[in-house]
Amino acid sequence: MTDIQREAMEYDVVIVGAGPAGLSAAIRLKQLDAELNVVVLEKGSEVGAHILSGAVIDPCGLDALIPDWKEKGAPLNTPVKEDNFYMLGEAGQIRVPNFPMPPLMNNHGNYIVSMGNVCRWMAEQAEELGVEIFPGMACSELVYGDNGEVKGVVAGEFGKNPDGTPGDGYEPGMELHGKYVFLSEGVRGSLAKEVIEKYKLSAGKEPQKFGIGMKEIWEVDPAKHKQGTVTHTMGWPLGSNAGGGSFIYHLENNQVYVG
Ligand SMILES: Cc1cc2nc3c(=O)[nH]c(=O)nc-3n(C[C@H](O)[C@H](O)[C@H](O)COP(=O)(O)OP(=O)(O)OC[C@H]3O[C@@H](n4cnc5c(N)ncnc54)[C@H](O)[C@@H]3O)c2cc1C
Repeated sequence: MTDIQREAMEYDVVIVGAGPAGLSAAIRLKQLDAELNVVVLEKGSEVGAHILSGAVIDPCGLDALIPDWKEKGAPLNTPVKEDNFYMLGEAGQIRVPNFPMPPLMNNHGNYIVSMGNVCRWMAEQAEELGVEIFPGMACSELVYGDNGEVKGVVAGEFGKNPDGTPGDGYEPGMELHGKYVFLSEGVRGSLAKEVIEKYKLSAGKEPQKFGIGMKEIWEVDPAKHKQGTVTHTMGWPLGSNAGGGSFIYHLENNQVYVG
């Protein structure tokens, strides 16, 4: 597809993905130098549309990035009030006290949030600093310079056939070039996989390890809802050779995240 002619736009930094990583990077760059031209490209129809996590958030990252996040209306509305951990077995459950738990499982000072809403709010903060954010723009290809360096991405290309040839109504999209290209696509990003392969970034490293998470949001009987409660479990129904567990986070509006 290299013979396709596309318009190109030049930036200082091109960021792929408007998740917490990409938006934090964009905000930090503009805090460091307000003159930088920073663009964030997001494949979801709006920022937050593809943000799926639980989520219990440790605000230490926000404290460092935007210390007055409370005054600025960050949607961290539900502090964790109760933290429970259970080992499950076929016959029942055992409550594990909090003191021997690793720090990761200690949610004191954390908040139960909609990470989609947190990202929408972060996008507003970034735009106020002058970051350009283009939702609905999937980055489908990397653009390489003469020395084999990544110099940009192709975004907004639509209508390819399954074999990669242009189909009916094909739109070539455009190239966005940057002095730096920051890939923050989340786990197993397609462009990240390409650069890992091309530049042998995983050579000599431990293999990456992945888990599968499933999550639903339920509205429950208000009598059973305990806002601010976090529950994790391990064990049943997983066998002894599989690591994993479950979570239930009680957020606002009689809703719970179940995963
Ligand atoms: C079910 C589940 C529960 C979780 N619960 C928690 C929790 O409670 N607390 C916690 O701290 N962490 C939790 N996590 C982990 C957390 O979600 C991740 O650590 C975090 O989202 C990583 O942020 P990120 O910005 O790197 O990537 P992501 O959040 O994945 O964001 C990546 C963004 O990039 C966009 N994108 C990807 N590829 C492209 C492309 N080629 N072009 C344009 N846009 C692209 C995506 O649409 C997305 O918006 C959970 C994860 C899962 C799956």
